[in-house]
Amino acid sequence: MKKYRKPTSRPSQPFGRKHSYPKLLSCCLVFLLAMVVVLSGCGNSGQNGNGSQQAGGQQQDGSGVETEGQEKDNSSVGTKGQGQDNSGLQKGDGKEEPGQDSTEVSSQGGNSEKGEASGSQKAEEPQNPAVPALNEQTVKYAREEVVTTSSVNVRTAPSTDSEVYQTAARRSEFIRTADDGSWSAVEIEGKEYYISSEFLQLKSEMTDNGYLVVIDAGHQGRGNSEPEPIGPGASETKAKVSSGTSGCVSGLNEYELTLLVSVKLQAELEARGYQVMMVRTSHDVDISNSERAAVANNAGADAFIRVHANGSDDSSEHGILTICPTSSNPYMGNLYSQCRSLSECVLDGAANATGANKKYIWETDIMSGINWCTVPVTIVEMGFMTNPDEDSRMAEDGYQSQLAAGIADGVDAYFGRQ
Ligand SMILES: [Zn+2]
Repeated sequence: MKKYRKPTSRPSQPFGRKHSYPKLLSCCLVFLLAMVVVLSGCGNSGQNGNGSQQAGGQQQDGSGVETEGQEKDNSSVGTKGQGQDNSGLQKGDGKEEPGQDSTEVSSQGGNSEKGEASGSQKAEEPQNPAVPALNEQTVKYAREEVVTTSSVNVRTAPSTDSEVYQTAARRSEFIRTADDGSWSAVEIEGKEYYISSEFLQLKSEMTDNGYLVVIDAGHQGRGNSEPEPIGPGASETKAKVSSGTSGCVSGLNEYELTLLVSVKLQAELEARGYQVMMVRTSHDVDISNSERAAVANNAGADAFIRVHANGSDDSSEHGILTICPTSSNPYMGNLYSQCRSLSECVLDGAANATGANKKYIWETDIMSGINWCTVPVTIVEMGFMTNPDEDSRMAEDGYQSQLAAGIADGVDAYFGRQ
């Protein structure tokens, strides 16, 4: 943080008895005292010269908590369509936080022995309005183990304007020394850095099993036929997203069925201890297939489950299949074995739980929503909406729950293999 400290004006009246001398000498004394002030100021500059300022109880800029732009960069999981929210997911450091100025966090003794080079003198560091600090009205000091709940920026000061020291992956562990509700101070190699508190969880209170599953309920209310490359660097394009098929008997749209099952899958996985993120939770979205992949990528998903239903010209065709890339996929073939394993597990789980016809795993490199992935992915085609029996079964709440439980069994099995 020192690099942010700018020279501050010295306290103007550090010595209270200054004016008690006879007038005759006052010029000389004032001069001498001024010299002393200047010299002592120089000597302490950048070190700990601010004791008197604090002792005087001067409130820094009196600006209090500024809430400007607070919602700015909040990571909105369910609605990833807006470009900015992507960065929210990726950056993870979320909201613009109160930038008011007060004493330095570490000054309050919470983090003890090690400290920075300046050690205990930090308590007297100048209060520079340009250097954000934790909110002294709300800050709490305690050494505790915390874990990041997403990929998140670690900053040199508690402000999104400050320098990013590093980006911590989801599930990174830190020792937190202070938390003002908006920003937390964490120790890294004895130094203090800051992470937005909303992306930290007490390690002792972690109830999930450590895996993040991103669920994409396939399609959306209105398709988007604008082209997008089918993979990074591809010249071949496909429509961004279609509205999918529909039930020959149920009349359900595929995008409705996929969300119904996805919501059940979310609940099932959460009940089993997974952290779950939904690409969409409503039909009124416009999220292309590559953008859906980006949600999973940016979140650092351990598995990305894309929920779809099938259609065929042959109304007798029925059963479940899953889709994964080929081993020579030019965009993400390095993930082949994981995708294949995930696809096997999910196919087995869904078929076992429902008793449906278990078809096969389709290996293909034409799916944009797979090709753009940097995380293990599978598409589960839950059944054929063009088959009257299967369509009416899939429209039943109980069967949807079986599907969700079966897919979750597959997810369990996949991580059990790791
Ligand atoms: Zn589909």
